[in-house]
Amino acid sequence: MDFSKLTKIFHRLEETNSRLEMAAIVADFLKNVPEKDLPQITLFLRGRIFPAWSGKEIGIGNKLVIRAISKVSGTKEDKIEDLIREMGDTGLAAESLLVKKTQTTLFSEKLTLDKVCANLEKLTNLTGNGSQDRKIAYISELLAFAEPEDTRYIIRLILEELRLGIGEGIVKDAIAQAFQVDLKLVEHAYSMSTDLGGVAKTAKQEGCEGLKKITMKTGRPIDVMLAKKIGSLQEALDKLGKPAFEIKYDGARIQIHKENDRIGLYTRRLEDVTKQFPEIVKAAKENIKTGSVIVEGEVVAIKSDKDRSPRPFQDLSRRIKRKYKIPEMTKTIPVEINLFDVIFYCGEDKTREGFLKRRKLLEEIINQTDRFRLAEQIITDDLDAAEVFYRNALELGHEGVIAKNLDAPYQAGSRVGYMYKIKPVMETLDLVIIGATWGEGRRARWLGSYLLAVFDSEREDYMAIGRMGTGFKDKQLEEMTELLREDIIKENGKEVKLKPKVVVEVAYEEIQKSKTYSSGYALRFPRLVRIRVDKSQYDADTPQRIRELIEGVGSIETDYLDH
Ligand code: AMP
Repeated sequence: MDFSKLTKIFHRLEETNSRLEMAAIVADFLKNVPEKDLPQITLFLRGRIFPAWSGKEIGIGNKLVIRAISKVSGTKEDKIEDLIREMGDTGLAAESLLVKKTQTTLFSEKLTLDKVCANLEKLTNLTGNGSQDRKIAYISELLAFAEPEDTRYIIRLILEELRLGIGEGIVKDAIAQAFQVDLKLVEHAYSMSTDLGGVAKTAKQEGCEGLKKITMKTGRPIDVMLAKKIGSLQEALDKLGKPAFEIKYDGARIQIHKENDRIGLYTRRLEDVTKQFPEIVKAAKENIKTGSVIVEGEVVAIKSDKDRSPRPFQDLSRRIKRKYKIPEMTKTIPVEINLFDVIFYCGEDKTREGFLKRRKLLEEIINQTDRFRLAEQIITDDLDAAEVFYRNALELGHEGVIAKNLDAPYQAGSRVGYMYKIKPVMETLDLVIIGATWGEGRRARWLGSYLLAVFDSEREDYMAIGRMGTGFKDKQLEEMTELLREDIIKENGKEVKLKPKVVVEVAYEEIQKSKTYSSGYALRFPRLVRIRVDKSQYDADTPQRIRELIEGVGSIETDYLDH
């Protein structure tokens, strides 16, 4: 298939913001895509080059791409950098330069999808001496063959920044539409296999019957069941009668896939983290008393093997990101796993069984150790008992509790009311926006990733405390950009410095110590509650307030409304 066919679709998708239209465009396209190309194309549509669980990434930065563009276009690198700054996107800059180039050079061969994929694959495998030059050669080769409008997307693919704004839901809708199958079956097949390409291919070849046959297997992460929020323990009792209350550990959700001696660990985002946690792999081999199984739990960083109290999430995140010298890390940041579910056992899908049965099975098949343990649990319909459990969880430094319906199945991939999380309320903060970043691709016109600051009234200075970037709808980004545009003081590449003026109320998960920001603190998962038009920059919260909040953590809140 010619790559330019994909370019046309990407282009059309970039032009629309309508979810329905996007699904219709993708459906129309998928109908005519050759079967062999379906898996790769579905990945591209989701902005991915390789499946998440493959662990593969291209890992090429702008610098190298600029050198390749320079080689093919004959334009100096600093000129290209200027152009990127001006246009806000490396892909667009390459396109504009290569339009000129291809007017004078005619290639007879067309660039195919296969060729693009082959070169992307080669880029992942190169290391060592001379690898930079070879990478540039592979990129240049693609750029030389490509039509100018293809180069925009080729560059974005290489930088792994395609960002068409197409969520998983749109691709699932499109598969259902294209091959006239029930959306529910597409969703189920996906949550069992987490392989949209495979689902598309099966839908095309075998229709509904084929989709029904897709089941989970070890080695392929499944799409996890998510928890809903709930206001209070009483509400959990009202909804669930007599639930299990479990500690909500603050770590990373990990699926352990065991097939005899083969162990795979996957995050909730389906990334393979087996190499990062050798001690969990060892514990799983030694303490799961069955050959073929998928269990789930929360990996938590702990202070030490003796003092097992939890460490902040950011320590665990260092373990997850670490790709080398892992044995050393296992000593400096020890971890444990708290197992809370079993979803596959001896070749059988256990998701249809009730939670209580699954928990009993888990208890049977796990040999508990300090590092490899079951999530602490009580089963009660008594509010006082639940409250004691909840307070104890907080005192031990955990996030809160999860209430689970004892009879509920495991509904993979959805946020149904089978588990509810209850955590203390975090107070919101009023912060000043002091910087932002121009977006990429279709968001190039908007400012995003807002740099937030507290106001130090003694020094009359603004101290950064985090970046708030995700979760904004296009319309909100547009509004924020309009609001902030006149406050731009300086631009450096995509980075924008802003006059401290706009105050936003921000919710967050946690405050952590940090060297990244000038305040010495960072907010975890900051999100916009509202713009405080009523507040000036001088009314923003102060570093003093942050210190008070940090010191307050550990004391138990009387109010356990979730946020
Ligand atoms: P949240 O990430 O706030 O939506 O809360 C749900 C997450 O809590 C799950 O995805 C797990 O990663 C985590 N978690 C911690 N402890 C438990 C537990 N005992 N049972 C289920 N999930 C848990």
